[in-house]
Amino acid sequence: MKPDGLKRFVLPVWIIVLSGILTACAGMQRREEAYSKSFFAMDTYMTFTVYDEDAKRAQSALRQAQEEIGRLEALWSVTDADSDIYAVNHGGGRPVAVQEETAQTILFALEMAQNTEGALEPTLYPVLTAWGFTTEENRIPSTEQINKLLGQVGYDRVLVAGKQITLEEGMMFDLGAVGKGCAGDRVVQVMEERGITSALLDIGGNVQAVGSKPDGSDWRLGLRSPFGEGIFGTLLISDLAVVTSGNYERYFIGEDGVRYGHIINPATGYPVNNGLASVTVIAKEGKLCDALSTSLFVMGLEDAVAYWKEHREEQEFDVILVTEDRKIYLTQEIKDRFDLQKDCRDMEMHVLDAGKPD
Ligand code: ADP
Ligand code: MG
Repeated sequence: MKPDGLKRFVLPVWIIVLSGILTACAGMQRREEAYSKSFFAMDTYMTFTVYDEDAKRAQSALRQAQEEIGRLEALWSVTDADSDIYAVNHGGGRPVAVQEETAQTILFALEMAQNTEGALEPTLYPVLTAWGFTTEENRIPSTEQINKLLGQVGYDRVLVAGKQITLEEGMMFDLGAVGKGCAGDRVVQVMEERGITSALLDIGGNVQAVGSKPDGSDWRLGLRSPFGEGIFGTLLISDLAVVTSGNYERYFIGEDGVRYGHIINPATGYPVNNGLASVTVIAKEGKLCDALSTSLFVMGLEDAVAYWKEHREEQEFDVILVTEDRKIYLTQEIKDRFDLQKDCRDMEMHVLDAGKPD
């Protein structure tokens, strides 16, 4: 039962594929048709759209893509007693053998936790549970409880030896902040293996583009405003992943009237409240976007910009940071592909300078 006065709101999609795109083939010479599949998985809604001349090929790619999501969900679910992650979390301090791709995904999450100095914290699950974000029965835990649970958190205490993972008793591993991105990359691969050259994947608001639109032009994505209905701008991209994190998507209002979001600062155990409204990361791979959108959101504007400057060449990603006071900080690369909505002209745009420390 939900405690009185606590409400939970869910707006499932952060990035909207603008209407019009889905019928983009009309009137063109080539005969690509749009084929779509929507379903619920990994606790979110997914829609995959494939553009192809061959109906059979498109439909079989869509079927295989959905199967792939189901397979990964079964491996990585925290709650399903048959999953690899469940086994790791219930190993009683002993090594647990997992599938190769689970081990790789765990390693990726740990590597990103290290890169971001723990802003991404894949062992935060006990704290997320105390806030009710894993069960949707939200509550405000006491500071004592949070501090005690933080003792069970620490990505640097996870042992990985090949496919053997060891967690201390009481610790929990969770791929909540990176799993959808990793799954998106796998679906892109499935599409490519099937010969699909034009597809758009919406994985609970993460968007991953396979190639470009059937006519060779970029996809135009709408970026949902963190301040309410509608979008604040559009972005032209091909062959890239675009992932947004923010506290406006999943949150609850506490009895104290404060809004508590689902992204938690592992340094404090409290939901992020640092002046950032949303962080969008654009890169080739969904998993990098997913890991970084969550962790840059935790870092706040200044540290997020510093992280981008330090890692942009090696990790090859771009960002759009939106602050609560309606400022947009974006990279030059993205500014050239971004259009601000007419009704958002009051939002100040700042282009991030890669060379200048600020
Ligand atoms: P979403 O899953 O809503 O698209 P994110 O990718 O940003 O958003 O992941 C947020 C989810 O990750 C939360 O719902 C929670 O389960 C978990 N989480 C919250 N804070 C952190 C954190 N600092 N590090 C790792 N995972 C987190
Ligand atoms: Mg994420």
